[in-house]
Amino acid sequence: MAQGHMIPMVDIAKLLASRPDVVVTIVTTPVNAARFKSPLDRAIDELRLPINVISLRLPCSEAGLPENCENVDLLPSITSLIDIYRAAALMEPQVETLISFHGFSCFCLLCLRCVKLHGDEFEAMSKHEYFVLQGFPGGIEFTRAQLPMHCKNLASDSTKEGNLDDVSQAESDAYGFIVNTFEELEAEYLEELKVAKQGRVWCVGPVSLTNCFELDKLERGNSSVSHVDQCLRWLDDKEQNSVIYVCLGSICNLSSAQLMELALGLEASDKTFLWVVREIEKTKELFQWMEEEKFEERVSSKGMVIRGWAPQLMILCHRSIGGFMTHCGWNSSLEGISAGIPLVTWPLFGDQFCNEKLIVEVVKIGVKVGAWRPTYWNGNETEEVFVKREQVERAVRLVMDGGEEGEARRTRAKELAEMAKRAVGNGGSSHTNVTTLIEDIIKEQRKQ
Ligand code: UDP
Repeated sequence: MAQGHMIPMVDIAKLLASRPDVVVTIVTTPVNAARFKSPLDRAIDELRLPINVISLRLPCSEAGLPENCENVDLLPSITSLIDIYRAAALMEPQVETLISFHGFSCFCLLCLRCVKLHGDEFEAMSKHEYFVLQGFPGGIEFTRAQLPMHCKNLASDSTKEGNLDDVSQAESDAYGFIVNTFEELEAEYLEELKVAKQGRVWCVGPVSLTNCFELDKLERGNSSVSHVDQCLRWLDDKEQNSVIYVCLGSICNLSSAQLMELALGLEASDKTFLWVVREIEKTKELFQWMEEEKFEERVSSKGMVIRGWAPQLMILCHRSIGGFMTHCGWNSSLEGISAGIPLVTWPLFGDQFCNEKLIVEVVKIGVKVGAWRPTYWNGNETEEVFVKREQVERAVRLVMDGGEEGEARRTRAKELAEMAKRAVGNGGSSHTNVTTLIEDIIKEQRKQ
């Protein structure tokens, strides 16, 4: 129950329900159901898609959460993350069978599998030492801290936050994987994953490309989108490919000091930027600093800061956007790839280091800002600044400036976006995979 998981789940529901003889049922909780009500109503009423929504009570109080605290972005503090897992586990009796989707890439799913098989070999290494993961193509190097947090005991300290054994077991037991990706993006990793899952891995994305209503591009995951007109009007005035869009996701845990450093790095880059900052307890200090320093006035000819939830998909499709600084959440990564723009990568935790490696080292459409270790979820070390303004400035300039390397990166990004569009179009790989997925499930049902 987090934005990054629910948004593609709703898109996948629409994708499946648009095929003949398929009825989709979404099992969720009341607050989350309300957030998706209007796009789902449009799909049901206007597109006549057979989608049912079943809304079950989340046992919040039983799990030590305030009532109605049904999404990670509503948690009083990130340290209560474990309670939302506990509350979800308590729903089990209400939900007999669930097909689960958690939104990782093939690259990341394969990484999890290799760690499960060969994890013992690097258990004794220090947290920040680099090693090549056995069985993982491409000679990609990881540190233990950079591994996705499912890798219990091996990855970052974040694993202390919750016992994810059940999630990991469910993954191993699952009949197959539906992955929000496209085959052409991570073919080598998909092949290995297929071996592990007897071929039952269906890449059906990028599912964000299924949004045909402009309003659906706007209302994603959060009904209160901020400053839409203001933001689009501002972008309309800018030259093609001249603006870098900066958004570090729905659960950014960077310290105020680090965010101030980011602000100064953006200013120093001298590039035009559109920066989204969520309005939460954690960012109060940043906004106060911005006021004291007159930051927004200072950068007004170049930059705009949006407070709240931005219409990200709409922004990324705008012609003036020429780069995207992202925390490498899988949805944001795919949305950036689909928009055909180069990325500046700033992973924070979870699967995001995996996604950064795919973007920068495998498909080579991004530049690392230099965040080499995770931002801990438990609030430790919060005041530390570990990405300096000079690093921000350098990465932004590299991505936005032309030059041979920059142009080659931009060309690759455009080609990848074309591939993504072809994949979801009629006869494309993802389109075909939806068909084979449905056929496979029907065949399985007949056997029972
Ligand atoms: N998003 C948005 N507006 C915002 C921030 C995020 O629409 O201001 C959307 C974004 O387009 C993406 C999702 O929220 O679809 C974030 O998912 P992702 O996996 O990138 O990151 P997470 O939020 O899970 O860290």
